Amino acid sequence: MDCCDHCHVPDPHRGNTGYRRVLWAVLAINAAMFLVEIGAGVAAGSASLQADALDFFGDAANYAISLLVVGMVLRYRALAALGKGCTMGLFGLWIIGTAVWHALHGTLPNAYTMGAIGFAALAANAISFGLLWAYRDGDANMRSAWICTRNDVLGNLAVLLAAAGVFGTGTGWPDVIVAAIMASLALQGSWLVVQQSLRELRQGSLAPAE
Ligand SMILES: [Zn+2]
Repeated sequence: MDCCDHCHVPDPHRGNTGYRRVLWAVLAINAAMFLVEIGAGVAAGSASLQADALDFFGDAANYAISLLVVGMVLRYRALAALGKGCTMGLFGLWIIGTAVWHALHGTLPNAYTMGAIGFAALAANAISFGLLWAYRDGDANMRSAWICTRNDVLGNLAVLLAAAGVFGTGTGWPDVIVAAIMASLALQGSWLVVQQSLRELRQGSLAPAE
């Protein structure tokens, strides 16, 4: 749900080799978990798993932007953010469509796969947080990293809740409802990113995202 837009990876460590290695590692973890959750979501017929994957996509894009684009001129940063926002928006619409399709067809997602992948996603977020922990600096930075991880974990817990709900009710509704909520939040987030980057492109003036 692109919760991590407000938590920019700190700049003070740019040029620090260890920090860049950590950024590459969390980028790899988040990109891998995006693919795993999308794949498992399709395989298990779970829209909420696919919705949770959106956050991994957004976070991976943020780390990629920190590694590759942050040092560049504002125009490129704004274009990168615009690309991220549009991609997430399209994914969000696709997941809403998937949720509607599942609801109409009354499909039953595989609760075991949802649970297993939900736990893997929790672990991936915990590991990313642990890796970045050493490079937190200042109260504000620590706070935003904490808020970011907390939101990620809430998304993972929502998937686990949906898995329990599917298991308990024997229907796909908990999956559909959780997916619809998460995808709506992601759409909202991507719309803000798109608006912000368009504004920056128009102004061409320095207007940092926060
Ligand atoms: Zn996140």
